[in-house]
Amino acid sequence: MSVATAAVRTTCAYCGVGCGILATPDGAGGARIEGDPDHPANSGRLCSKGAALGETLGLEDRLLAPRIAGRQAGWDEALDLIAARFRAAIDADGPDSVAIYGSGQLLTEDYYVANKLMKGFIGSANIDTNSRLCMASTVAGHRRAFGSDTVPGTYEDIELADLVILVGSNLAWCHPVLHQRLAAAREARPSMRVVVVDPRRTATCEIADLHLKLRGDADVALFNWLLAETESRGVLDAAWLAAHVDGFPAAMAAARPWDRDRTAAACDVDAADLDMLLRLWLGTERVVTVFSQGVNQSASGTDKVNAIINCHLAAGRIGRPGMGPFSVTGQPNAMGGREVGGLANMLAAHLELENPAHRAAVRDFWRAPRVADRPGLKAVDMFRAAASGRIKALWILATNPVATMPEADAVAAALEACPFVVVSDVTARTDTAARAHVLLPAAGWGEKSGTVTNSERRISRQRAFLPLPGEVRPDWQALAEVGKRLGWPEAFAWTSPADIFREHAALSARAAALGRDFDIGGLANLGDAAYEAMEPVQWPLGGPERFFTDGRFFTPDRRARMIPVDPPAAAPPDGLRLNTGRIRDQWHTMTRTGRAPRLTQHIAEPFAEIHPADAEPRGIGPADLVVLSARGRRAVLRALVTDRVAPGSIFAPMHWSRETASAGGVAALLAATADPHSGQPALKAGTIEVARYAPAWHGFAISRRRPAPEAAYWARARIARGWRVELAGEAEPDDWDAWTRAAFAAPEAELVAWGDPGRGRRRVALIEHGAVVAALFVGPEPVELSRAHLVAAFGEADAAALLAGRPGGRVRDCGRIVCACFDVGLETIVDAVATGRASTVAEIGAALRAGTGCGSCRPELATLLAPEARRRRASGR
Ligand code: SF4
Repeated sequence: MSVATAAVRTTCAYCGVGCGILATPDGAGGARIEGDPDHPANSGRLCSKGAALGETLGLEDRLLAPRIAGRQAGWDEALDLIAARFRAAIDADGPDSVAIYGSGQLLTEDYYVANKLMKGFIGSANIDTNSRLCMASTVAGHRRAFGSDTVPGTYEDIELADLVILVGSNLAWCHPVLHQRLAAAREARPSMRVVVVDPRRTATCEIADLHLKLRGDADVALFNWLLAETESRGVLDAAWLAAHVDGFPAAMAAARPWDRDRTAAACDVDAADLDMLLRLWLGTERVVTVFSQGVNQSASGTDKVNAIINCHLAAGRIGRPGMGPFSVTGQPNAMGGREVGGLANMLAAHLELENPAHRAAVRDFWRAPRVADRPGLKAVDMFRAAASGRIKALWILATNPVATMPEADAVAAALEACPFVVVSDVTARTDTAARAHVLLPAAGWGEKSGTVTNSERRISRQRAFLPLPGEVRPDWQALAEVGKRLGWPEAFAWTSPADIFREHAALSARAAALGRDFDIGGLANLGDAAYEAMEPVQWPLGGPERFFTDGRFFTPDRRARMIPVDPPAAAPPDGLRLNTGRIRDQWHTMTRTGRAPRLTQHIAEPFAEIHPADAEPRGIGPADLVVLSARGRRAVLRALVTDRVAPGSIFAPMHWSRETASAGGVAALLAATADPHSGQPALKAGTIEVARYAPAWHGFAISRRRPAPEAAYWARARIARGWRVELAGEAEPDDWDAWTRAAFAAPEAELVAWGDPGRGRRRVALIEHGAVVAALFVGPEPVELSRAHLVAAFGEADAAALLAGRPGGRVRDCGRIVCACFDVGLETIVDAVATGRASTVAEIGAALRAGTGCGSCRPELATLLAPEARRRRASGR
């Protein structure tokens, strides 16, 4: 490809909002990143993650050539080997002995090729993806209610609604630009109301009129009650129901037993809060119910989705502006994956695997020897099959299941047991890549070219603006080459992503002719230049922006289905409940965001939110380390004692892996319990024990080189001039000096010590050629230092100034960085509020610039202001 020098319009690599980006290459492998003002999803906005994409480019830790059994190999050798091993397994044990595990990070074109290879030519539906962990319950719920996996609404509906109910969605951190659109709409139209339904008080609650802090998995009870009240208070849309909906009597029979008191008890919320929700729901026609992982990642996720949809169907609040159920997807291309049928229970183009006419249409279109005629193995079962020897060859693309799947230790063991594992990724530094027989160097964001679809069905181009480095190739090419080597050269003969896209679009036209919702057939004849220039486009092409405007669904009789749903029986707790999720500035297992120093400033260490009522009896104080244990596995995290979580529950983020912490991964603690309809694991409902961890020593260090300490606990993160690392040890090293030099890869460094080793405290600078290459601080309890100051001063201050651990003279410690755009720390903000210089988010912005960049920290600024706002209200000011 030619190397771009002007701004290239592309799409963000992360969440399902799908923001448009202008990337201007700097000619040295980097790029300036700005929001695309002309992209309908974001109109120029970007959150902290999107804005920092430029810092994640570069070739450090990149996988640049294929590897076989750890040695570098050529592409032909690697592809020949993959084809041979897949062929041998298929011949010996049948098509179901091989599998592909993909990702919502794949482009639609990559996904299409993988799905065609497995389902149409190998003849097995053993292709599943990490989208199974993300939104499979939504897919199942949509299909039960609508007869198709159709997202009815658009982002604009969230702005047009008079009431937005966010269920299990920390929009402020997980879909920040959509949250900003909601916050802006609310500010412009103060009559708009926002309700958050979430067991945790998250940053999203800052714009909420009501936070229902319900018990985990009580959502079905809540929406059943809302449905029963919809009927009894006369808010049913009887004409709509009669004309367009089946299943009303059965759904109502399940809902009616849920009265106010029973629901309040099941949800563990005040009945008065239910009353407020009910008043808002009954009195508001334009309601959008946004739901996300708190709904999906549950053993009753599909029922939760249908409980929400039931309410909207009963009230006729769907298919019109400002109303409807709205699933927001976690990944940048989860929707594209759904479009190509990249799940083990779907065919391509929203066609159905179980439907003979659909299979025949796909087989004819692909001229395929066979099309899988039954669902394949979903994620959890796929890795179990690998462990038991049923899967003989497995190809994993663009995902890190050893760090993210429940029972992650069993997934690691499964890969070790599987005779042949291929991993395609941008780096070999993942917990999964470490277990591959063949590693393929994949093109990353900025290098690959294709399309992605966001949560509102908008297809956007992801364009390359950097050359492919080394031997790197896009995933579609690797998959197609294996397809050719397996004996189907004509079916996999594409020469570009545009070729694949045209075929995908043409297949969707066949699907539409069979009455399916997904139809981009109008793009099937797009020329190469038109594909290159393609503007973001929403499907259905040329149709109404919203689905179901005409009351016609995609079931055989075109009527929607209300589904009777019951909440799971509440079991008595046999431990604390572990809820896992995301933080503002990181993405998945940090293989990309972890490279950006700006993004580690906000939170640099794995943590566990624990309620004071649970912390106190266990002797856990703020900043202590804690051990979370379950299933014979343990994680060690920093305690954050807070009433944001309810008593009896713990929240811990999912981002840390063996690459970034000694024991920060929480996926191994979770049992692989899955929703019976969708197969989606319950990633927010682990049962764990928590105890204070009392090491012999604690430490903090900054280092030029990647630290690799021999310590019971460590958590490392990128900073501008190297790394920072939190440490703890169960016994002091016999030789601290040798330990220190080894930990920071500085064998020849001179050690300059400061402090009082006799009291277990050490402050040591490592000096090479007169420059400080690392500084270590050790104490018997968590070391109190200005970490933000040390990170900023590293590389500039001399050893004595660094070892002081705090800014000198009259300079104040700025505290933990809250605003990553302008490096504004917690203490600086608190000081501005305490001294009366700022009492609103806008005033903080005017005084300090915090919150005036990407805006991702604005909810946190509002949280910081909450005590001040309460004080002012109390004093009548
Ligand atoms: S909200 Fe942030 S992470 Fe999501 S697509 Fe937009 S810029 Fe990327």
